[in-house]
Amino acid sequence: MNARSIVLEDGRHLTARAIIIATGVRRRKLDVPGEDEFCGRGILDSGATAKNEVAGKTVVIVGGGDAALENALMLGETAKRVTVVHRRDEFTARRDFVDRARQNLKIEFVLNSNVAAITRNQNVEGVEICDVRSGATSHLATDTLLIRIGVVPNTEVFQGQLELDKSGYIVADPNCATSLPHAYAAGDVANPRSPTISTAAGTAATAAKHIFSFSSGS
Ligand SMILES: Cc1cc2nc3c(=O)[nH]c(=O)nc-3n(C[C@H](O)[C@H](O)[C@H](O)COP(=O)(O)OP(=O)(O)OC[C@H]3O[C@@H](n4cnc5c(N)ncnc54)[C@H](O)[C@@H]3O)c2cc1C
Repeated sequence: MNARSIVLEDGRHLTARAIIIATGVRRRKLDVPGEDEFCGRGILDSGATAKNEVAGKTVVIVGGGDAALENALMLGETAKRVTVVHRRDEFTARRDFVDRARQNLKIEFVLNSNVAAITRNQNVEGVEICDVRSGATSHLATDTLLIRIGVVPNTEVFQGQLELDKSGYIVADPNCATSLPHAYAAGDVANPRSPTISTAAGTAATAAKHIFSFSSGS
C-alpha cells in the first residue's frame, strides 16, 4: 500500500483519490489448542444467543470486562452454574455488572487465574487453570465455555506503513487522517474507546468529507 493505491491478495492494484481503512477488530483468542476446533462443541460463539443452549448446564466464562460479566449475568438466568475465570483480582467491567454478578448465587469467580488448556473429548469437558501467583494448576469441569478477553484491531497488514498505537490501533487525527497522506481510518480500527455503529458511521463520514473537501484528486 502507498498513499493512493493498494495491492490485493491476488496481485491486483487499486488506485483511488484516497483510502479509508475500516478493517475493524476481532475477538482476542486464548491461543490454546482446541479453541477453534471446538467452537459449537461446547465453545460458545455468542452468549446472547446461548441462553437456551446452556439451560441446566455449567458455563465457564473467561474474562473480566463488560462482555464477560454481562454474559455471566445473562447466561446465569438459565445455566446451572457460571464460573468467571479472570487473570486479575479486579475487573475492568462496569461496577453495576460486577456488583450484580457478585450478588448472584449462581455465579462463582476464579480470580488471578489463566486458562492454560481446554480439556475435551467429543465436546468441551473442562479447562486447565493456572494460578498466576503460585503457578499451581487445577482442572475445572464445564459443559460450555465462553471466551471474552477483549478484541484486537485488524491492522497486521498495515504494520510498518502507518502509525499504530501500542495496542495496534491506527492513530488518526480528528479528520480521521492517518500518518500516511491520503490514507484515512474509520470505525473500530482507530477507535478503542467508543466502538459503536454510530461512531463507525460518523468517522467514515468525517473521513469522506475531509477527502472531498481538502484532498486533491490528482
Ligand atoms: C456481538 C456484538 C454486538 C454489538 N452490538 C452493538 C450494538 O448493539 N450497538 C452498537 O452500536 N455497536 C455494537 N457492536 C459494535 C459494532 O458492531 C462495531 O462498533 C461496528 O461494527 C464497527 O464497524 P467497523 O466498520 O469499524 O468494523 P466491522 O463492522 O468489524 O467491519 C470490519 C470489516 O473489515 C473486514 N476486514 C478485516 N480485516 C480485513 C483485511 N485485512 N482486508 C479486508 N477486509 C478486512 C472484516 O472482515 C469486516 O467485514 C457490537 C459488536 C459485537 C461484536
